[in-house]
Amino acid sequence: SIFPHDLQFEQRILVSLAADAPGVDVIDDPRAYQAWLDIELDRAAATFAVGQYGEDRSCYRTEAFRGDALDARSVHLGIDLFVAVGTPVRAMLDGVVTTVVNNSGRQDYGPTVVLEHQGPQPFWCLYGHLSTLTLDTVHPGQQVRAGDVVGFVGDHVDNGGWAPHLHAQLITDLLDSPDQFGGNFEGACEPSRRDVWTSISPNINALLRLSAETFQPASNSSVQALIERRSAVLGSSLSLSYKKPLHIVRGSGIRLYEHTGRAYLDCVNNVCHVGHAHPAVVRALASQAAMLNTNTRYLHSQILDYAERLASTFPDPLHVVYLVNSGSEANELALRLARVATGRHDVITMDWGYHGNTGNLVDISPYKFNRAGGAGKKSWVHIAELADPFRGAHGANGAAYAQSVADCARLAEANGGAAAFIAESISGCGGQVVLADGYLQAAYQHARTAGAICIADEVQVGLGRIGSAMWAFQDHAVVPDIVTMGKPLGNGHPIGAVVTTVEIAQRFANGMEYFNTFGGNPVSCAVGNAVLDVIETEGLQHNAHHVGSYLLEGFRHLQTDSPLVADVRGRGLYLGIDIIDPNASLDSSGGRGQPDGHAAAAIANRLRERGVLISTDGPNDNVIKIKPPLVMSIADADRLLDELALALSQVVSGDSRG
Ligand code: PMP
Repeated sequence: SIFPHDLQFEQRILVSLAADAPGVDVIDDPRAYQAWLDIELDRAAATFAVGQYGEDRSCYRTEAFRGDALDARSVHLGIDLFVAVGTPVRAMLDGVVTTVVNNSGRQDYGPTVVLEHQGPQPFWCLYGHLSTLTLDTVHPGQQVRAGDVVGFVGDHVDNGGWAPHLHAQLITDLLDSPDQFGGNFEGACEPSRRDVWTSISPNINALLRLSAETFQPASNSSVQALIERRSAVLGSSLSLSYKKPLHIVRGSGIRLYEHTGRAYLDCVNNVCHVGHAHPAVVRALASQAAMLNTNTRYLHSQILDYAERLASTFPDPLHVVYLVNSGSEANELALRLARVATGRHDVITMDWGYHGNTGNLVDISPYKFNRAGGAGKKSWVHIAELADPFRGAHGANGAAYAQSVADCARLAEANGGAAAFIAESISGCGGQVVLADGYLQAAYQHARTAGAICIADEVQVGLGRIGSAMWAFQDHAVVPDIVTMGKPLGNGHPIGAVVTTVEIAQRFANGMEYFNTFGGNPVSCAVGNAVLDVIETEGLQHNAHHVGSYLLEGFRHLQTDSPLVADVRGRGLYLGIDIIDPNASLDSSGGRGQPDGHAAAAIANRLRERGVLISTDGPNDNVIKIKPPLVMSIADADRLLDELALALSQVVSGDSRG
C-alpha cells in the first residue's frame, strides 16, 4: 500500500518525464509506457518508480495542456508514484474528505480524492488517477486518520489514460474557484508561472520526508566529473569500488544512498557496525563535540568509562587499555609493546594477513608484501602457514598448521628470537577463512614456548560481529597477550584500541612516554561508549548470530544449486563464498576447484547494479565477502540471498563483464 512513511525507498527508481527520458515517446500509450517502465524497474531491481515534483515535462507540451498562457502547463506540481493497479492509497495525515469525483476526461485525473488537513492554516492533499472502486470507498465529509485507505490506484481505462500511478499533490489555497472545490486542481503549471504555482502547491516532499537528493535527477556526468577531480588530486594508488563507481551521499542503518536517491543494501561495511549514521552515536558525538574535545593529559571521565567498559569485555588478564586512532596505530603499538616487553625484534605472521598501512605493518602483511608492488619478505619476518581448512595443505588439522609457527620461531632464533606471533582470529584477506580447529591453541603454545608474545588482530572481526562471542579469539578458547581493535569501535569515527596485560604494560613503561594527540579524546570516547550502548540495547551480537546463521544456511543452498560455489564459511555476520570455475577440472587446486576471481568480480558488479553491495577478497580474489552492519534483518538477508541466486545463475565462468 502507499503510505509514504512505509515506502521502501530502496526499491524505488526515478523516472524522469523530461525530454531526454527514453519512455517519453511512449507516454501517450499507457501499455507501451508500462512495458518500458517494467524493463527499467527490472534492470534496477526496483518495484516502483517516482516521477518528480517540479519537473518540466516535455510530454505535457501539447495542446491538451495549453490554457490561456502562451506556454503549455508542463511543470509537474505533485509527485507520481508508479505502483501496481489496485494498490491501496493511505492518508498521509489525519483529515476530512472534501471531494470524491471522477475527472473522467482523457489525460485528466480520473477518480480523484481531496482531503483537508488542519495546520496553522487549513491545507489539502489531492490524490489522483485512482480506480472507480475508490468512488464507492470514501465519501465527502468522512473523517480519516493517517494510514486509512482513501482510494486505490486505477488502470489506464479509469485513470485518464495513463500508466497506473498515484499523483499526490499538496494544495495550500483552493483559489475560491468552484471547479477547485469540484476536485480538479491544476496538477501542472506553465513554466512562466512556476513561482506562483509552486507557492500554492509546495513540494509534497515536506510530507514524504525524503532527503533532497532523492529527487535530484540522476546525472552520470556529475559522477564522471567527480572521478576526474579525484584522479587529479588524490594519489592514484587509491582504488574505486565497482566498474561503475558509486557516489554515495547518505547512509542510514544497513542502507547507503547514492546521489540519485537510490538505496543500496550495504553488505560490505564492517566499520559502521551499528548501522550508518546511528542517531544515538551521532548525538553522542555532537553533544560531546559541543562541550569539549581535548587530549588525554587532563582528567576526564569519558575515557575512563570507555576504557573500563572495553576492558570488561575481555577475559583475565587483559586489563590495560591504550586508545589510538586506527587499526594500523593499534597494530603499530602492539609491535612496540611486544618488542619492548621481549627485547626481541622478529615477528611471526600468518600467511595472507593484512595488519595495516604503515611501513612496519606492510612488512608483516604477506597480503601486501607478497602481492603487486610488494618488496617481498624482510629477514625479520617469518610467515606461518594460513590454517585454511578448505584450501590448506592439512585440511581441518589445526595442530598440523600450527607446526609452522614452531618452525618460524626456530628460524627467528638466529636473529635473537621472535618478539610476537600475530594473526587475525578469522582471516579476512585470506578469504574469510575460519581458522582450523585447534590451530590458535597450538600456535599460541608454540609461540609462547619460544618466548614470543601472542597478538590477536581483531580489527575486522571483533566487537560481537561473529555472534557467538564478543571477540573472535574466544571461539578458539585462547587468551592472547595483546588484542588490537579498530574499524567498528567508533562506527566510522576513527577509534583504535589495544588491550594487554598489566605485566606487558609495565615493561613498556620504561621511561619513554606513550602519548597520542587524538587517541582517547573525549569525543572519540563518547562515540565509543555510544557504540557499546547500542550493541547492548539493540542486542546486535545476538542479531549477528541469528541473521548470520540464517545467511550461512542460505549460502549452503546456493552451494547445492550452483556449480560456481565451492565453499561457504564464516561466523556471524562475517561470511565468505568461495567461487570457482565450473568448467575447470575439479581436480585442480587439490580437488577444491579452480578459484575464479573474474566470476567473483562479475557477481559483485551485477549485485551492485541490482542495489546490493558486496566485495571480494582472498589470495585469488575469488571469495565473496559478506560483512554488513550488524543491524541486518532477515528480510535484508532474503534480499541478498535472492540477488546472489540470480547473479550465480547469470554469471558464467571467466565472466568479467559484470
Ligand atoms: N588489521 C586488519 C585485520 C585490518 O583489516 C585492517 C584494515 N583493513 C587493519 C589492521 C588496519 O586498520 P586501519 O585501516 O584502521 O589502519
